[in-house]
Amino acid sequence: MSQLIDMSVVAQETAAVCIRLAGCVQGAGVRPAVARLANSLGVTGCVRNALGGLVIEAQGTVDQISRFRQSLPTSLPSSTTITEIDVTTIDSTDRTTFDIERTLFLGQVSTQVPRDTAVCDDCLREMRDRRDRRYLYPLSSCATCGPRYSLIREMAFDREHTTLSGFDLCDACQQEYGSPSDRRYHAQTITCSKCGPQTWLTDSVGRQLGAGPNAVTEAARQILEGKILAMRGIGGYQLLCDATSEVIVERLRRRKARLAKPFAVLVGTLAEARRHACIDSTEAEALLDPSNPIVLLRACSNDIAVAVHPGLETLGILLPSSGLHARLCESVGRPLVCTSANREGEPLEYEVQAAQTNLVDIADVWLHHDRPIVRPIDDSVVRVIADRRVTIRLGRGLAPLPLSLPLAKPQVAVGGHMKSAVAWHNGSQAALGPHIGDLNTVACRERFEKQVADVEALYRFVSSTTVHDSHPDYFTTRWAQGLSLPSSRVQHHFAHIAAGMLEHGLLDRDAFGVSWDGTGFGDDGNIWGGEFFTIRSGTEYSRVAHLRPFPWFGGETMVYQPWRSAVLMLNESLVGDEWIDRAASLWQEQTVVPFVRLTRRTEDCVRSTSVGRLFDAVAAIVLGLEVVHYEGQAAMMLEAVASPTSQRHYPLSLVDRQLDWRPMLRQIWMDQEMGLLPGEISAKFHRSLAIGILNVASLYPHFPIVLGGGVFQNKLLTEMIAEMVSDPKRLKLPGSIPPNDGGLAAGQLAISVMREQRRLRHSHT
Ligand SMILES: [Zn+2]
Ligand SMILES: [Zn+2]
Repeated sequence: MSQLIDMSVVAQETAAVCIRLAGCVQGAGVRPAVARLANSLGVTGCVRNALGGLVIEAQGTVDQISRFRQSLPTSLPSSTTITEIDVTTIDSTDRTTFDIERTLFLGQVSTQVPRDTAVCDDCLREMRDRRDRRYLYPLSSCATCGPRYSLIREMAFDREHTTLSGFDLCDACQQEYGSPSDRRYHAQTITCSKCGPQTWLTDSVGRQLGAGPNAVTEAARQILEGKILAMRGIGGYQLLCDATSEVIVERLRRRKARLAKPFAVLVGTLAEARRHACIDSTEAEALLDPSNPIVLLRACSNDIAVAVHPGLETLGILLPSSGLHARLCESVGRPLVCTSANREGEPLEYEVQAAQTNLVDIADVWLHHDRPIVRPIDDSVVRVIADRRVTIRLGRGLAPLPLSLPLAKPQVAVGGHMKSAVAWHNGSQAALGPHIGDLNTVACRERFEKQVADVEALYRFVSSTTVHDSHPDYFTTRWAQGLSLPSSRVQHHFAHIAAGMLEHGLLDRDAFGVSWDGTGFGDDGNIWGGEFFTIRSGTEYSRVAHLRPFPWFGGETMVYQPWRSAVLMLNESLVGDEWIDRAASLWQEQTVVPFVRLTRRTEDCVRSTSVGRLFDAVAAIVLGLEVVHYEGQAAMMLEAVASPTSQRHYPLSLVDRQLDWRPMLRQIWMDQEMGLLPGEISAKFHRSLAIGILNVASLYPHFPIVLGGGVFQNKLLTEMIAEMVSDPKRLKLPGSIPPNDGGLAAGQLAISVMREQRRLRHSHT
């Protein structure tokens, strides 16, 4: 006889489960949200952070547990990303409450380290509300917002592991912290004006000019008087001044020794940002994102001083990162230049005493706070290209960037030389770290070494190998080779493409890669930068085509004197000597004639396929540019003038597996002489490159097209390619990993891991 099961009885039986969540589940208010859900359903048990993520033990009736499991995913804060849920049955206990537990643990960190997020609207509302006890307190945060990565000493994310551990909670904060209905229930970074960090303003000799709410109002007054403020933000100090005054912005440039690189502008709200730039919906989303990046936009305002972004159409804008930024914006009432506080080429200042001393001839006033920063981190920069958010600089809010790689042995990839950043695998997870800077100074090199040591401590691993670029003279190459560890190298342009393949989950596939940038060490000892590769299974590449090589004279000066690239390329493109007189009149200040003579006398020189220098050459001809102050400036200025409505283009065909730019350069030279507008020539040039790329890609119709290298930060060029490609699904554009050298380490790490996988496969067969 079959027995009918009474479901209502089963539903009343006790069930106990252990639920493990992996992903970005710490530092985002997940534990309080879980506890709130459990309490609302009458479920008992506990939740705790673990190095592998989050562990929940839940006990109740079968019915309660099933509702708990169902509601869990939708009850978590929106910033949570869950990569894995694992549920097992456990023995029931006699617990009568649901608690948030602390645990100390040993072993590998496999949960993601939380990133810094911008202050949320709720916290801002309290700061502006006269009746709220956090009225005018600019350093508050809650369970879902505030600093994380910049203040964690070690994982897991608990207050005693952060730099707030020295601030004991006052009674009111303690009350909020312990109350499940409060939005600061179990918020690890909870603070208020009574018990939390404080702000104060000083002059250049460290004399106090104001403290508490007065510090911000006095700082605002000083800015309106034309002063330059050094303010301690989330990841370090920033320099702020009136962005509407040419005189003041020029003064900042002089003092900072930053002659031309654009500055970002801080504004209080999205509505205000729209007064200074054209902003589409994807760009608005990027501005409002909790990661709070600087977004490169098309400028449309006369209010912003030209000196903020000389020669460029783009303007980098960001919204307030913290209450302090928001209050300053409100008190000044004008757009503010907001740039990392350092001398050009030196690392970011982040400590109170050092900032007071080292910035003494740059800033006039200092706005400090006493919440220590463990990990200095610059602001992130993104640009929307073909409707995708592309990271130009990976920094606060975006780093560390989790990388989806198979398990591998613990290792560090050290990146390149400029825009240095490191990537690592700790044996259970991989990530790309924040922008460090160019490694030309001792201080930047020290910051690099410190960061490698820091990630090993934070992610609890000891490298068993390192990966570096193939350039023998990069600081990072020599550094990696100087360790008593095995090391391997990865060709520069291959690493760019591998970063793109990693971004799109294509590492185990074949691909066609276009790797275009300024310079990278080529396998033949020449300077590469206009490469076409086919890639097999993420480990092997062949160079199937490249830009036609041109001679490279004078090392680094090529980068800062674009007229040299122009002369060298014209010399190869034009017959006779007639062009030399015109060139000499175009770049009057330069020694064109002796330079041509010298290059013609020298037979044996390095050759280069750098597309970056091709951009320089065209910019020099079209804009008459002689000298630039940073790599990529010429290309950015050329992009800025383009009038992209034109559908015309120049010839740029593949001859003997080389893109031959000579016919194009001849025509550009003629167009310039005929007085064709720079915007027209620039647009034609961009279109020719897009067509050239797609023509080569059409030879490999079954492969995805992966773009990598700094050239693809160029919105105009990349969007032309996206528009013209016949099968859009084939095109794999850059995204969260920077296409420039800031993403190099991610590509190096990906290749090293794929090589390890292949070795393992071979040893098994
Ligand atoms: Zn908040
Ligand atoms: Zn308090």
